[in-house]
Amino acid sequence: MDINKTIKSLQKKLYTVKLFDTAKEAADYIDSQIDGRVVGFGDSRTMIDMELYKRLSAHNEVHDPYQGKDNDEFLEIAKKTLTTEVFLTSVNAMAETGEMVNIDGTGNRVAGSLFGHEKVYFIVSTNKIEPDLQSAIDRARNVAAPKNSMKYDLPTPCVASGGEKCFDCKSPERICNAMVLYLRKMNDIEDVEIVLINEEMGF
Ligand code: SF4
Repeated sequence: MDINKTIKSLQKKLYTVKLFDTAKEAADYIDSQIDGRVVGFGDSRTMIDMELYKRLSAHNEVHDPYQGKDNDEFLEIAKKTLTTEVFLTSVNAMAETGEMVNIDGTGNRVAGSLFGHEKVYFIVSTNKIEPDLQSAIDRARNVAAPKNSMKYDLPTPCVASGGEKCFDCKSPERICNAMVLYLRKMNDIEDVEIVLINEEMGF
């Protein structure tokens, strides 16, 4: 994985990029940057591990669908995240050539990452970086999505196989309904910042 090439590629695509050695340093940075704002969260194992909800909700109005008690509350909060001032999420894979890939089942994470905010942060650990777009797509489909399904212990063939690969299933519980390729910064979001963490995190 060539981190310098990745950073240069992301900058050419008009993203702001910051690199941190540890998740703790990245969490401290994000906590210092977002204050007194209305914030929306997309689903991210990395963000959970960084305890960003606890930290940011101490001095911001934070809407995190995963704080909902049931699916109805999840969807109610998820709708609110689509128009917050700031939105934070992660990606399933990133290419050294600067593209990013996200797979989503409900759609709130990818919808929120594309439109409706002044600023969007993508928090990405460097274990998600692949040499090119095709291998990033492969990682998202055959590594991240099966692991994500395993997290929820879903009755899907990827879980039955121990997370070996995606079987492009027809299961009602399938979590892979949309795949978004981020090719360059979206026009109407003022700033899109990629926070890279040089540690193994997430899926
Ligand atoms: S499409 Fe189905 S088999 Fe493939 S990763 Fe998603 S849930 Fe698993």
